[in-house]
Amino acid sequence: MPRTMRAVVCRGPRDYVLEDRQVPSVGKGDVLLAVEACGICAGDVKARDGAAMFWGDDVQPAWMTAPVIPGHEFIGRVVEIGAEARSRRQLTEGDRVVVEQIVPCGECRYCRRGQYWMCQVHDIYGFKSHLDGGMAEFVRVPEKALTYKVPRDFPTVSGVMVEPLACAIHAVERADIELGQVVVIAGLGALGLCMIQVARLKTPALLIGIDTNPFRLHRAQALGAQVVLNPREQDVVAEVMSLTGGYGCDRYIEATGAPAGVVQGLKMIRKLGVMVEFSVFEVPTTVDWSIIGDRKELDIHGAHLSPYTFQLAIDYLASGVVKAEPLVTHKLPLEQFEQGFDLVHRAQDSIKVTLWPTS
Ligand SMILES: [Zn+2]
Ligand SMILES: [Zn+2]
Repeated sequence: MPRTMRAVVCRGPRDYVLEDRQVPSVGKGDVLLAVEACGICAGDVKARDGAAMFWGDDVQPAWMTAPVIPGHEFIGRVVEIGAEARSRRQLTEGDRVVVEQIVPCGECRYCRRGQYWMCQVHDIYGFKSHLDGGMAEFVRVPEKALTYKVPRDFPTVSGVMVEPLACAIHAVERADIELGQVVVIAGLGALGLCMIQVARLKTPALLIGIDTNPFRLHRAQALGAQVVLNPREQDVVAEVMSLTGGYGCDRYIEATGAPAGVVQGLKMIRKLGVMVEFSVFEVPTTVDWSIIGDRKELDIHGAHLSPYTFQLAIDYLASGVVKAEPLVTHKLPLEQFEQGFDLVHRAQDSIKVTLWPTS
């Protein structure tokens, strides 16, 4: 085992560097993974750029602490394993593993009720100094982590997509899609394109994807969207109204991260519809709140993380029901992390950008 490793280290907002770090030491309950690849999440980029929801402002306290190695979408190979972890997790050296992004405390009121994705402590890889993430050659997986073994021949790109897909499955489930419905998914990044593939499994009467980027609209079509709409080129609300006899869509899943995605959804959803909010926003959204009650009696469902969906995500990727390859547009060595973050920030010609520490 080497003693040092290369790692992307966040020292504060807009202050990210490649550093040599000590390889983490492994306690009785820990597992050490050699990282095969780690995805860059839109949230990672918002954190880098100093967004208030990570670093705090006068309204919300910070929940990110530096220094920390970012990265919560990773697949790795077991290289070292503590005695307790070996028996409890039934893992051994060489196994390939994906890890849920949250490490539940196990003790708060949510964890005790099985609602671990809402854990009050809320430790997520790559956001707090005591829980380094996967943008490094090695990552330590602590005792309370949730690990899943993947098949030996599981493609590495599929491994990176397990976490985003698991979140997409949860968001689609939160939409309570019924037979014969018209479903709109707004925002066709990696998450939205996973949602398209998952929503398709519900066989909606019409599956509509919305994005401002033609490249992503093409991908959505190839992955199962029957209609794709671009708000830069057409009146998308009018289009959805005319496709639904003037009623509006039954289900609207918001994954744009932009306030316009919320406003447009409230306009195009029918009365008594279900709207799912998945995004993380850089700025607050202003809407006429009376649409929700007085005019449409909507159900607004939040969706956060991936409760109990990791195994299903692995199975869908392993069987080919959901495809990862069309989503992973970039494979970069760790040294090019800045270029990777910028690609995600521009969101023009990339979908999922990944870092490969050993390439
Ligand atoms: Zn993510
Ligand atoms: Zn907890």
